[in-house]
Amino acid sequence: NKLKIGVSSCLLGEKVRYNGGHKLDPVITDTLGRLFTLVGVCPETGCGLPTPRDAMRLEGNPAEPNLMVIRTRQDLTVPMQYFCQMEVIRLKGLALSGFIFKARSPSCGLCRVEVFNEGVSAATGRGLFAEAMVRQFPLMPMEEEETLHLTAVRESFIQRVLDYHDTD
Ligand code: SF4
Repeated sequence: NKLKIGVSSCLLGEKVRYNGGHKLDPVITDTLGRLFTLVGVCPETGCGLPTPRDAMRLEGNPAEPNLMVIRTRQDLTVPMQYFCQMEVIRLKGLALSGFIFKARSPSCGLCRVEVFNEGVSAATGRGLFAEAMVRQFPLMPMEEEETLHLTAVRESFIQRVLDYHDTD
């Protein structure tokens, strides 16, 4: 049985992005998909948003940002946090050994996601779902898809996934 790793669904080719598209990443689906069972998670569709949908971004305090729809100014922080609370429990039951996040997403980005204040990009933070995952699984190996394109990072990630399972 292969170990399971979670992946932002759009990286698996699922058309769940705000614009109706995907971000299929063959390094994940082919190279890592040979080694691990890939479990797709899209927090934005998971919390009930349609596809396509209005673009959103992080705003406010970078340590605790809000998830805001840019055009309508709708605040989606609470529904997203509710989804995250439920989803980390579900994923705990799946016994994931790692997670790959879509870079720069206000929901999935693991680091350096833009946080806006008074209309300008003022700081960087972490997507709300990625934040919930880091809190729930602080030792789980996690990377963004872009860094996994570097061979050394990818090999290190694979080893950490195997080790995480061994010590869990
Ligand atoms: Fe869904 Fe995350 Fe991909 Fe956005 S980045 S489409 S929230 S899986």
